[in-house]
Amino acid sequence: MIEVCTSCMAHFFLDPVKVGIILVSFTVSIASLLFLIWKKGSFEKKIPLIYLHLFALIFPFLFYMFATGCEFLFRSCSTTRSLLTIIMIVVLTTIIATSIIAPILFFVKYVRKSNRLSRGLLHEMAARKSLLLGIKKPHVYLLNDAEPTAFAFSKFKKSIFISAGLADLLSKKELEAVVIHELAHIRNDSSMVKFSTFMLKALSPFATFMTFHDELNHEERKADALAVKVQGTRRYLKSAKMKIEDFYRKKEEL
Ligand SMILES: [Zn+2]
Repeated sequence: MIEVCTSCMAHFFLDPVKVGIILVSFTVSIASLLFLIWKKGSFEKKIPLIYLHLFALIFPFLFYMFATGCEFLFRSCSTTRSLLTIIMIVVLTTIIATSIIAPILFFVKYVRKSNRLSRGLLHEMAARKSLLLGIKKPHVYLLNDAEPTAFAFSKFKKSIFISAGLADLLSKKELEAVVIHELAHIRNDSSMVKFSTFMLKALSPFATFMTFHDELNHEERKADALAVKVQGTRRYLKSAKMKIEDFYRKKEEL
């Protein structure tokens, strides 16, 4: 669609301004990634750095495409116009990809394997605890999966997913601890943290080998703390985790 004319290529790399823009962009990309690794503190505050890193990483490629093909796209070659167009495209695609398309794809993937609950124990539990936490009750889904797992979506449609395997494995009080933990994620909007981490890993080759355990652990600890606070004891959360760990340990042994 966008023609990259080879005759323009040499012209492009001989232009110090264009080369400069590309170098600055790559530098910003690497710097923001280094900041991300070294900067201590809450992961939510670092989310803008993830997007800056991705933006600055993708930008040079688009800039090159547009700058060399600008005569093809526009009747005359205008750097300002090309620049503005690229910035707009990059910003729009980043926003669309990260905030709309990917969450929907994730959501749809799990909804197709789940049944939405409109009554029953888990539904009532989520309704009561949402009221207690002062949040709107999310949709509650029973995931058709024999493995014990639970997670929450706080973007797109607020919902929590509890697998059938988990519902079978845990006692009522333990399930309550899990439900509160997931509601805490919705209240703290931490699926955005998980999601941004995912996007970073998916889009940036530099981040492939990075781990964000500390940041995710921080979110997990916050959600756990709320479950303990609401239940007034760590007992059920602890036994729920032990049962889940046991399950996966036994599975590995098989
Ligand atoms: Zn969690």
